[in-house]
Amino acid sequence: MLNSEFAHAIDAVGIAARFCRRIRQEGRIRPLTKADGSPVTNADFGSQALLVQRLRTFFASDPIMAEETAELADFSSDAAFTDELIADLKTAGADFANVEALVHAINRIRPASGDVADSSWRSRYWVIDPIDGTKGYLKGGQYAIALALIEEGQVRFGALACPEYPLPGSPSTTGSIFFSARGQGAWAIPLDGQAEPVRLSVGPGESRSDTIMCESLNHSPHGLSGQVAGRLGIGEDRIRKMDSQAKYAAVACGDADFYLRLPTSATYREAVWDHAAGVIVVEEAGGRVTDMDGQPLVWSDARDWDANHRFASGRGVVVSDGKLHDRILAVISETVRTNA
Ligand code: AMP
Ligand code: MG
Repeated sequence: MLNSEFAHAIDAVGIAARFCRRIRQEGRIRPLTKADGSPVTNADFGSQALLVQRLRTFFASDPIMAEETAELADFSSDAAFTDELIADLKTAGADFANVEALVHAINRIRPASGDVADSSWRSRYWVIDPIDGTKGYLKGGQYAIALALIEEGQVRFGALACPEYPLPGSPSTTGSIFFSARGQGAWAIPLDGQAEPVRLSVGPGESRSDTIMCESLNHSPHGLSGQVAGRLGIGEDRIRKMDSQAKYAAVACGDADFYLRLPTSATYREAVWDHAAGVIVVEEAGGRVTDMDGQPLVWSDARDWDANHRFASGRGVVVSDGKLHDRILAVISETVRTNA
């Protein structure tokens, strides 16, 4: 089914996802606001600490690119926040002796030897989004714990844990882990318990005949995407708005035919951690992913480590079952031209 080299990585997203779900179920999410105004919570930091700690254990020499950073000064000023987080992490099986150890785990994202100024990091590194769709997490919607491995400029492995997404083929089971390694297909298992993996494949199967589009709730130019949908013959009732990379899962398992992510501004650059895990799951389920001009996403380019957190070129992302892809690209181009 899947090369066992990645079993620890799949376990890690499951552990982090159950940790996040428990904090939410117990009504103990503690939201903070980042410098850019976006939300972050105790669970984002905890999830990242769990993922980094496990990667350090099982893939000790690999660099890790992760979304969150923690300032010791900020953390230390709120002892209640960190004490509770350290206690929660202990329950999840990770022991951090004190806040320094916790901050170190959250921030230790580069190789232990330190120097990523040379280009050697480009050959292999992990990408983490500890909670993708934090807004969804806060309000009871979709969210995802995303982990991917980039090797020689290609996504080699990805795992996406979606605690609120049904298991494909078992609508009454909520909580799924979607995963894939290059050339080995895309699969789903339940977030809880043991089960044979379900093989994913794009397209609606026999379940429906209408085309379904999905898009972001908060980061989509809904007017423009609505026009694209309209030109494709898709009415409002066929558009599913949801948070996080759960949209990639929806395309991979055939719940949606495509995911449209048109740019919200001329300057915004998509973050690598918002896409890496989702892309390989969709591609290995038979789908296609490009930017809105039909170009492939460039995972590692000639820029330095920090710059590579975001895609340098390419705007927007189009994720589809493959069959509709060229038509969607053509309609986007027409629509953008008409609006110019
Ligand atoms: P979604 O749940 O699809 O809305 O995606 C959530 C992700 O959108 C977050 O993790 C952010 O990294 C990213 N994001 C933040 N601002 C923007 C923006 N202006 N345009 C596109 N994505 C953004
Ligand atoms: Mg994200």
